[in-house]
Amino acid sequence: MPPQGGLYVHLPFCPYICPYCDFAKWPLHRSRAERYLGALEAEIAHAPDFAARTLFLGGGTPNTLENAQIARVVERARSRFAPGGFDETTIELNPDRDLCAAAAFEAYRACGIGRFSFGVQSFVPEELATLGRRHSPDEVREAVHRAREAGITNVSLDLIFGTPGQTPASWLRSLEAALALEPDHVSTYGLTVEDGTPFADWFARSPGDFSANDLEAELYGLAIDVLTAAGFEHYEISNFARPKKRCLHNANYWANGEYLGLGVGAASFLGGVRSVHARELEAYSAAALGGAAIPGEDECLEGPARVGEAAMLALRTAEGVDVAAFAERYRVDFHTFYRPVIEEMQALGALDVTPARVRLTRRGRFVANDVCGAFVTFAG
Ligand code: SF4
Repeated sequence: MPPQGGLYVHLPFCPYICPYCDFAKWPLHRSRAERYLGALEAEIAHAPDFAARTLFLGGGTPNTLENAQIARVVERARSRFAPGGFDETTIELNPDRDLCAAAAFEAYRACGIGRFSFGVQSFVPEELATLGRRHSPDEVREAVHRAREAGITNVSLDLIFGTPGQTPASWLRSLEAALALEPDHVSTYGLTVEDGTPFADWFARSPGDFSANDLEAELYGLAIDVLTAAGFEHYEISNFARPKKRCLHNANYWANGEYLGLGVGAASFLGGVRSVHARELEAYSAAALGGAAIPGEDECLEGPARVGEAAMLALRTAEGVDVAAFAERYRVDFHTFYRPVIEEMQALGALDVTPARVRLTRRGRFVANDVCGAFVTFAG
């Protein structure tokens, strides 16, 4: 039996580059994109056997590509990794009007894509301008409307909080505007200033323009309150879903499941080895087209490192660590192994601990990176 899990395909081209973005991405050039897709097909052909349950087309901006190119990628991936079809197929979309024609959405649907994830970021024009996004709030509304018309029943909206200039009132406007579109899923990400981006230069010049930690916490708390009051499950630190609308692909990551990542910069976790392709577009394309090993790095996660990773991922979720399942899979008694760190985090009010489960409290979610980091560090 080949390993099974999630399949991620990276489509790295964007119509423009946002100043906060640290993803593996390049401005779209048609000839470069065509060469890249050829490389992707070669990688699909040479990849290890894998039984994919979900497909996630991420980027970049997948909808800068032509509809036929997207259909080609989905078809190649399906015939190689999921002949019986995927349980879930997601595409990330920029809601820019020029990239969201009705024909494109119908074409996506026709090739089996059933989940649309829109990079909305904000419904406040000034914040969109600060983030370098070129779409308007009305374009988001149009795009979601078109998705529904195309028969898409699983729509997710991504929002960013902590944008310079944002206030609790303006964040509330974005949350309410998002809810008015009746999404099935909402992801809220705190803005992080990534090295090497124009935002990092801005931060170095004027750190006071960026949200302080207490404002970020207030914004995050507002998101939790507004979205859960509207009936969403807060099922992972950054993710909220209507019942039965959790993202299956990402749930597999948090369950420490296996995944195969294809394309430049993509990460995989197979057989206990975590690997990542280098973020060099031409090196990726040349290697894949030539049938050579894709440049990158890998790391074998064994023993304590594997335990720490599993604990960190499980703690991100609403269910937390299932102690019995953890013992069976990793041969570790969670309470005994982690006693000092559990006691420390419990004393801070960050953990809810029962014999059967260990999970973050509401308070713990605000300091999730520190708490999860403590579990990774303790495992060594
Ligand atoms: S945020 Fe999205 S659209 Fe903007 S540059 Fe990054 S990948 Fe491209």
